Amino acid sequence: MSENAQQQEELFPWHLGVFDAHCHPTDCMPLVSAISNMKCRVLTVMSTRAQDQELVAQIAETYPLRDERVSAPAQVLPSFGWHPWFSHQIYDDGSVPEYQHVDTAEQDNLKISHYQAVLVPSPTDQEFLRSLPYPQPLSKFIAQTKEYLERYPTALVGEVGLDRSFRLPSAWSPGQEGVRDSGLTPGGREGRRLSPYRVRIEHQQMVLKSQLSLAAEMQRAVSVHGVQAHGAVFDTLRETWKGFEKEIISKRLWKRRGDAPGSDIDHCDDTLEEELSQGSKNFPPRVCLHSYSGPLEPLKQYLHPSVPAEVFFSFSSVINLTATASLKVADVIRAVPDDRLLIESDLHCAGGEMDQRLEEVARSICLIKGWTLEDGICQLGSNWTRFAFG
Ligand SMILES: [Zn+2]
Repeated sequence: MSENAQQQEELFPWHLGVFDAHCHPTDCMPLVSAISNMKCRVLTVMSTRAQDQELVAQIAETYPLRDERVSAPAQVLPSFGWHPWFSHQIYDDGSVPEYQHVDTAEQDNLKISHYQAVLVPSPTDQEFLRSLPYPQPLSKFIAQTKEYLERYPTALVGEVGLDRSFRLPSAWSPGQEGVRDSGLTPGGREGRRLSPYRVRIEHQQMVLKSQLSLAAEMQRAVSVHGVQAHGAVFDTLRETWKGFEKEIISKRLWKRRGDAPGSDIDHCDDTLEEELSQGSKNFPPRVCLHSYSGPLEPLKQYLHPSVPAEVFFSFSSVINLTATASLKVADVIRAVPDDRLLIESDLHCAGGEMDQRLEEVARSICLIKGWTLEDGICQLGSNWTRFAFG
């Protein structure tokens, strides 16, 4: 029997604790009650847009985090943030006057000029422009998110990020909106055709940066989405820790200083690290690159010993283990240090399929890493605990 077939026969050790690092069960509220019967221990539940922030808070009340070491019923760790797919719905009120103080006609003009400025190509289609919601001020959203983070002291910031490939959905066609599935939380695409419009990367970066600085201020972990924007995601994160890099001192230099460390200290690459700066920090302490689809190369940048944030890489069977993606991703998974790997379902409905997806990706990672299922699940569990709580 092959190693693969042998592993598939083995019972999955749910009792050791399996953690979903990124999912969206509030997109499908009628199925949320299925959380009670899930085998997964904690769901890290993301928010993305205006319509789901309060829903995430709600399910965190229904399935509160009690103790990540106990199973059944599954628990929810909430995460509050604004996804790049909805970044156009936010305006930088540092540079635009308040909408509330102007009359309706003027509000409409401001709305149109906002969307014409942040979308590419700049839309002239009046029907499409009319279909977009009034954008909300960034400061209001950040203040609201801060309140949620204060209310839930272990909550994360997310889902945030950058995406160069997505396009906005078109306006609902006549009659289509009336027959939409009312069980789905509004604001998603729901099968609408895609428009040609994308959100300018500079605008996405502005929304991302302000959320990263909130995560830094509150010292919370962040869940980051990056699609066709891996360089820009890294650059935006690097800006946050600029001036806080860990100093890399070679052993030779350390010896010259006369304070060479004992031989029991284990360091990578003949280097030693010490923190350059103390005190207040500008960067989020822990970052998860969710459903990491980037190439192998950027791993080195994120894992460089001078990077002061702890960066984790999370994988899902939905995005990462499709037939085309899985060959490439195996090399990436092999290269991620054992203690920086996370798993996620990235699904939008709670229930058995979430458990099944987590099992699939965990089994694949164990095979790729050459771990037994028991060792792998323990490793992934302790990684999640460190990512979430530090
Ligand atoms: Zn997501």
